[in-house]
Amino acid sequence: MRFLRFSEKHVEQFEKLSVGRVSSFTELFVRLQLLEFDEHYRKVREHPLTIWVSYLVACPLKWFYTMKYPEIARATFRGCFVLGKLAHLGLQQLAKLYAEELGFRQVEIEKDVEKRINVDLNDLPRIVRLSGRIDILATDEDDEKIVVEIKTARSDAYLPHEHHVQQLRIYMNLANASKGVLLYITPDRVAEYTYTNPASDEELQKLVATFLRFEGPRYEWECTYCQFSSICPRKKTNQAKR
Ligand code: SF4
Repeated sequence: MRFLRFSEKHVEQFEKLSVGRVSSFTELFVRLQLLEFDEHYRKVREHPLTIWVSYLVACPLKWFYTMKYPEIARATFRGCFVLGKLAHLGLQQLAKLYAEELGFRQVEIEKDVEKRINVDLNDLPRIVRLSGRIDILATDEDDEKIVVEIKTARSDAYLPHEHHVQQLRIYMNLANASKGVLLYITPDRVAEYTYTNPASDEELQKLVATFLRFEGPRYEWECTYCQFSSICPRKKTNQAKR
């Protein structure tokens, strides 16, 4: 019976997109991903002075190519997107359902946060807005804020990933949170990493300046998984295929 109460009480707090009539779960997944991309792309185009945290911790050229060739970014559908989506929905529901047991007084999901950042770019001061959406923002019994960032991965090798830690620490700064939890769900294990050092404002300024100079890729492995690698002159050469 608890599950019934859980679904009735919490499901209305999740955003429902207008997918129209679908013939299968597969079509539902594809429609959801396309709608989410369109919504995200619309927001990015409407706010040219806003940088999203998810872009900030990745190769800046990917952002440039997503704006120039949205058709390429939109056309990519992989099963791992579905797994990631389901993991987020499930864990966000669990965090609400077991808030008390987890020591949370309050739980917010998909919480929008933002901050204005001043950067000096070639001696030209510029103000940009840094925006992000936090998977779970909880408040504990001491009124301290906790950011929970959910990640799925194919394996547990090399966890935690540097750019994920950076993303979490940026969210901690934007949410004024003293604690952050990076929660990985992989076929090998569930791994949880706790951080108490939010990114400083100076770190944010440096990251934004690097982004605005389009210095990429940030990591060589990014090109291997990049949708734009077949058109990008900055792609790191794949030595194995030479
Ligand atoms: S191929 Fe590499 S350098 Fe080019 S956009 Fe993709 S990640 Fe960036």
